[in-house]
Order: sequence, then structure tokens, then C-alpha cells
Amino acid sequence: MERDIAVPSRTREILEKHGFSFKKSLGQNFLIDTNILRNIVDFANLTEGSGAIEIGPGIGALTEQLAKKAEKVVAFEIDQRLLPILNETLAPYKHVEIIHQDILEAEVRSMIEEKMQGIKDIMVVANLPYYVTTPILMKLLTENLPVRGIVVMLQKEVADRIAARPGTKDYGSLSIAIQYYSEAEVVMTVPKTVFVPKPNVDSAVIRLTLRTKPPVQLTDEKFFFEVVRASFAQRRKTIYNNLVHNLAGKEKKEQVTLALEKANIEAKRRGETLSMEEFAQLSEVLKKYL
Ligand code: SAM
Repeated sequence: MERDIAVPSRTREILEKHGFSFKKSLGQNFLIDTNILRNIVDFANLTEGSGAIEIGPGIGALTEQLAKKAEKVVAFEIDQRLLPILNETLAPYKHVEIIHQDILEAEVRSMIEEKMQGIKDIMVVANLPYYVTTPILMKLLTENLPVRGIVVMLQKEVADRIAARPGTKDYGSLSIAIQYYSEAEVVMTVPKTVFVPKPNVDSAVIRLTLRTKPPVQLTDEKFFFEVVRASFAQRRKTIYNNLVHNLAGKEKKEQVTLALEKANIEAKRRGETLSMEEFAQLSEVLKKYL
């Protein structure tokens, strides 16, 4: 039996054979620890009939572990140089398909309709390229895809911000944006030593379980997110100051005061203390006053 792709000696042989050189600009840090990879896959709770969508298969380390559990795996890879390598390393897994495309440009929904027909349980599982973590997650969450959830490796600092609760230093507009669409949890932290080359930052794995309905009722989602962003624009400022300076404008000071009163939120609180429900209430009232 051939060793797994992620076994360090096998990874080294694959990279040497193809004369592959890492591109930092594409966030290429490959995993060389099969235990970590199996853990990541376990967090996705795949069953025999599941489908998995991967972003950035690299030389196929995670793809292979997904292929052992899922009925179908589709992976998007931007770097053309990896295609012949993947063709070779994943040859034993006929139910794996690689798409040469930037995930940010991909029509993921049409891909699912075309290539995952009849599959009822779909998870996104990836060791993300860290330079585009947030755009990738926001794209996947806002497209209302028929997937159960997302299990991904990313920078630990971003993972902490995504899963943060109100009143903590990490809580901000990213926490609210992601938690509006999903339930977020940090499930594992990962040392730098399990990658080649070693990244400069610590890593963690998060699991996002998609919500079937939003946690708060909004009449205007876009405005809600504008209110949230404005409230965190300057973290040390009060919610009142942030809303006046970054949303309403000085000429509408009075309206901000009234809206805060009506929403039962003290003007001197800071954005980081407000729950999602409070932001929802505030944006509904502000919309009427501004
Ligand atoms: N999955 C592999 C592993 O765990 O060893 C590689 C992970 S590496 C952190 C990120 C991968 O994403 C690289 O293969 C890189 O070429 C690819 N990538 C970078 N930007 C991408 C994009 N916009 N769309 C699709 N793939 C991308």
C-alpha cells in the first residue's frame, strides 16, 4: 500500500519529482500530518453518502482523506501547476474531481447541481489560502448554498474573531457577519510544525453549521450590516459616537440619541458589548429615524 500523500517523506518525493516551488502569494502551506487531516475530516461528520467541496487541494493531502469518507469530492484549485500533480496523486480516487478555477469566481451552486446530483448532505472542507480567508467564507455563506456546513483551517487570530461572543476583545463585525449565517465554533488549534513551508501565524480549525433561518428578524439586511460596521469603526469610541460619525452624520445627532433610547441601548456603551439581537433592534429603529 502506498503511503498517504501527507506523510512527510511522500510529500517530499511528490514535490521533488515535479520540481514544485511554493507560491507564497497563493497561500501555499501544505499539511504534512495525517492525524490532523483525519481530525479535520472527522469534524465534518461525513457519511458514506456525503459530498465534500474543497478549496485549494494543493497536492491532494486533504482531498485524499475526504475521498476515503465521502461519496463525491469536488475541489477548486487556482494554481495550474498543481493539476498534473493532482492527476497523479489522486488517480486511485475516481470519485474526486478537480476544477481549475479561482473559488471567488466559481459558480458553486451550478457546480453542485451538475456534479453532486442526488447527494443530500454536502460539506465544505478546506485548509484555506490565508490571504483570502474572509472573502471565501463570506462568498460561501451569502450564496445560500445547499450545504450543511463548513469546516476549515485558517489563521487562529481570524478563527477567534469569527467565533467570538459579545463582550470579548475579539468580538466585532466579522463575528456578527459569520454568526448571522452560521453557528461558529473553534474546534481545534494547530501548530505551525504540521505544514510545509511553516506559516508565520498560528492556525485553527473552525466549524460553521449553517442556519436554516436567520437568528434575528430584519427588514433590511444591508442596513443592519452597515450599522454593525459603523458601530465597530473605532472600537474605543461609544456606540453613539460611532453611529454619529460613521453612519448618521453630525446633523442627525438627535435621531441617533432617540433611536438608542427607543432600542433600550445606553449611548455610552461600546459596540463590542452589544449582542446580535441588540444590533438587530437598533438597526430596525435607526432605519425609521434616519
Ligand atoms: N489542501 C492542501 C493542504 O492542506 O495541504 C493545500 C492548502 S494551501 C493552504 C491553499 C491552497 O489553495 C493552495 O493549493 C493554493 O494554490 C490554493 N488557492 C489559493 N488561492 C485560491 C483561490 N482563490 N481559489 C482556489 N484555490 C486557491
